[in-house]
Amino acid sequence: MSLSVNLRGSDPVLILGGTAEARSLASELMAAGRNVVSSLAGRVRDPALPVGEVRVGGFSIGKLDGVTGLAAFLVDHQITAVVDATHPFAATISANAVAACARTGTPLLRLERPGWRTHPDADRWLWVDSIEQTVQAGAAYARPFLTTGRQSLAVFAEGWADKQVTTRVVDPPECTLPARWQLIRSRGPYAYADEHALMSKAGTDLLVTKDSGGTHTAAKLDAARDLGIQVLVIARPVAVGDATRVGTTTEALDLLEPWFE
Ligand code: NAP
Repeated sequence: MSLSVNLRGSDPVLILGGTAEARSLASELMAAGRNVVSSLAGRVRDPALPVGEVRVGGFSIGKLDGVTGLAAFLVDHQITAVVDATHPFAATISANAVAACARTGTPLLRLERPGWRTHPDADRWLWVDSIEQTVQAGAAYARPFLTTGRQSLAVFAEGWADKQVTTRVVDPPECTLPARWQLIRSRGPYAYADEHALMSKAGTDLLVTKDSGGTHTAAKLDAARDLGIQVLVIARPVAVGDATRVGTTTEALDLLEPWFE
């Protein structure tokens, strides 16, 4: 999206969401009198909903793949711009947004919260690139605290069946967990004292996390440091495409507002 772009002020901005930043942007744009449609994947049973219009579910419908379905949505709903505010690890929808926006000539802004690479302890952490590498890198640890979400649990359940894993997810897992594992169901944000108590009680020797960034789930990193627990971080997938990128809702608003006609 170039700085010479003019957005049609009355037509909706599509926010690809599922994050706190997406909800915050929807509120701010609506407060500024803009028309907004937010899109959620529909994975979480009881999602936090943004204000304004919300659609739920993937764009691949029938014979349409995700890119074609999203491109059709952009045209049918006269979307003036797309803000991809999805989670840093939601790589498929981000790639689909790049392709669908290129196909339809729709301006695309990527709102992605900064990661934890700049965290003061980041150089003490183990960094890996995939779930499979995580399983290998954690082989020597007995009591991991696994906070990488529900989708990857089956791989860990196979590779770490003999460990005393504590895992924390929002919705129930779709796979059977090993008998030795402890399952915690909750949704952040999490406070330092609670994270400290949780890992102390579980006897955690390895904290496993994605490089999600932000503050909602960052307290576990400080608690792990203070407890002398090794942290293992899965690095973000490499971004595709050349969308304009911003790190905060405020930056997104500052960029978008002058573009409206
Ligand atoms: P993904 O692998 O990139 O996407 C898989 C498929 O889900 C996409 O191809 C698309 O289906 C659909 N989809 C994803 N986000 C969508 C959205 N906002 N609106 C409509 N359809 C969407 O994504 P994921 O990692 O499964 O994450 C799913 C959603 O959860 C994302 O929106 C993300 O913001 C949120 N989330 C993800 C994580 C994480 O760790 N991955 C953490 C917190 C929140 P079609 O191809 O049919 O269009």
